[in-house]
Amino acid sequence: PGTLHVVATPIGNLGDLSARALETLRTVDAVCAEDTRHTRQLLSHFGLERPLLALHQHNEDAQAAQLVARLQAGESLALVSDAGTPLVSDPGYRLVRAARAAGIRVSPVPGACAAIAALSVAGLASDRFAFEGFLPAKTAARRDRLSALVAEPRTLLFYESAHRIEETLDDLVVAFGGERPAAIARELTKLFETVLDGPLAQLRERVAADPNQRKGEFVVIVQGAGDDADAQVAEGKRLYAKLVDYLK
Ligand code: SAM
Repeated sequence: PGTLHVVATPIGNLGDLSARALETLRTVDAVCAEDTRHTRQLLSHFGLERPLLALHQHNEDAQAAQLVARLQAGESLALVSDAGTPLVSDPGYRLVRAARAAGIRVSPVPGACAAIAALSVAGLASDRFAFEGFLPAKTAARRDRLSALVAEPRTLLFYESAHRIEETLDDLVVAFGGERPAAIARELTKLFETVLDGPLAQLRERVAADPNQRKGEFVVIVQGAGDDADAQVAEGKRLYAKLVDYLK
């Protein structure tokens, strides 16, 4: 059987595509991509032309079976997403699971990942962290998710897009309090790369005051709860409210 190579691509700066990623993309039989147009552009920038197969949220289960059959027939495939590491807030998990279940070799070609890049420059504790990806789109669900994280001791990492960054900062201030240290990493590796740090309320003010700070792609990093009594009390209240709800 062939190998499924899970290949990280740049999160903005094309110079971040590794030599091994290039070599892999050059030699596989086909590239499974989240958005084939986007990936075709990336490949052509490097003078590569490979058959592309679409693999996105909506067809992943159906596609996985076909792709596994191709791997079993001896083809080697690369899996990429639009940016960064596949499977990290991106498609691929179902394909990887199906390939592994079929005994196919799955091998990583590691590289850029926005969460890890942000963590590496935020200056917040990095020995233990929890990746939370995107918060739910609906307000009530977002607030529930955040209130469940108030006493979390690990550094928290969130992905956010331009159109919801202000709302998310508002919700973070409400959930964690304005004093909680945090950082916002925007447009990493790109022309307008900016990393802001400070208490959540101050970050929210800076983003509100400057429209440029609301453009692009964001990773929001929030310091974990210390042994601080407020967080413990908040967690106690949350569990109590849940219990009351349950007993109703
Ligand atoms: N798989 C990607 C990775 O490894 O980081 C993440 C894909 S996810 C669909 C896209 C989100 O990643 C964006 O909304 C943003 O939160 C974050 N992101 C991607 N590129 C970024 C960058 N250059 N700077 C800051 N955040 C970025």
